[in-house]
Amino acid sequence: MSLFVQKYGGTSVGSIERIQHVASKVKATWEQGHQVVVVVSAMSGETNRLMELASSITSTPAPRELDMLLSTGEQASIALLAISLHHLGCPVVSYTGAQVRIHTDQAYGKARITAIDTDKIRQNLATKHIVIVAGFQGMDAEGNITTLGRGGSDTSAVALAVALKAEECQIYTDVDGVYTTDPRVVPKARRMDRITFEEMLEMASLGSKVLQIRSVEFAGKYQVPLRVLSSFQPGAGTLITMEETKDQSMEQPMISGIAFNRDEAKITLLGIPDTPGIAAEILTSVSDANIEVDMIVQNVSKEQTTDFTFTVHEQDCQAVKSLLQKTVQHIGARDLIVDQRIVKVSLVGVGMRSHAGVASKMFATLAKESINIQMISTSEIKISVVIDQKYLELAVRALHTAFDLDAVD
Ligand code: ASP
Ligand code: MG
Repeated sequence: MSLFVQKYGGTSVGSIERIQHVASKVKATWEQGHQVVVVVSAMSGETNRLMELASSITSTPAPRELDMLLSTGEQASIALLAISLHHLGCPVVSYTGAQVRIHTDQAYGKARITAIDTDKIRQNLATKHIVIVAGFQGMDAEGNITTLGRGGSDTSAVALAVALKAEECQIYTDVDGVYTTDPRVVPKARRMDRITFEEMLEMASLGSKVLQIRSVEFAGKYQVPLRVLSSFQPGAGTLITMEETKDQSMEQPMISGIAFNRDEAKITLLGIPDTPGIAAEILTSVSDANIEVDMIVQNVSKEQTTDFTFTVHEQDCQAVKSLLQKTVQHIGARDLIVDQRIVKVSLVGVGMRSHAGVASKMFATLAKESINIQMISTSEIKISVVIDQKYLELAVRALHTAFDLDAVD
């Protein structure tokens, strides 16, 4: 007998038929003799609908009341799932976050879980009940309802899995796992059987949005195995786990996946003085405005001047441009260029640590397709390049093939 936390997202509970389908899946796990705690999201579109209702009154709804409103989406779906399981003859009980006692801080709309009381759930499990818990919500020290931020049900599920020391936290969604890259770009992308937490974080933050990043960090920190799988198709999905347990029998591939990000823009200051303090002056105004900088490149120069390039989120690039007008004049830069027509492509893999030559193979592959590399950055498990956005598909496909990631049919 194992304890599983299963989380079903909005699409998986998007209609009464789908809720009934989820009920039969939960029932099947329970009938195998396992203990099951189910976390559900609101029916798809519901949180947005509630959000719009509030914003039709004011653009600044009172945060406490907004959380009161948004939490009702999940409350409806736990009840409907519980009614369905009852109807199938299963002993079941549903709880809101506050009823379980999922304690959070008081940051309405982005609350952090501080503790979970598991007594009640454990008692219910001991009497063979299925326990359903509303995702995305908790309560603060005064009993006010709080919500955890969009997509927060993943975090609820992981937190419950940690608190209950579950065997596995299973995230049921509308994809059947984590892929080597976006299958819409590379039809030969493969579902990965396993990926490490570190790799998943790189893949997620680089644009393969399967799981809320926070929940992956959380699961990694407490080492709860996470599994992403489809609620519509059978299959084992993708297990996200620690590196040590990664398939030891097999030679680890160098590269696990290829992520890309279309949302960055490149800012270049041309002809800046090559003297101490200039880079700091440029980036201080950017960071003071709370704008995140991703890659940074400065050329070493034999001249008196050099060029300085960095990337920011596309939506911040106009703000950066105006922020830097004064700096440009002050340091006497020749020009400031904003280029939004770029993408970042990254190879991700824990195997990279022990494999030299990944970078040269990557660059050679891109060169063969005549794709110019504008920027490069590396970390322990990742190599990223910035290229012209018109080559995105070509680049990702070529790299996917070059690094033996293509599915064999
Ligand atoms: N219902 C919430 C949202 O739409 C939480 C979730 O689905 O995880 O963001
Ligand atoms: Mg772009």
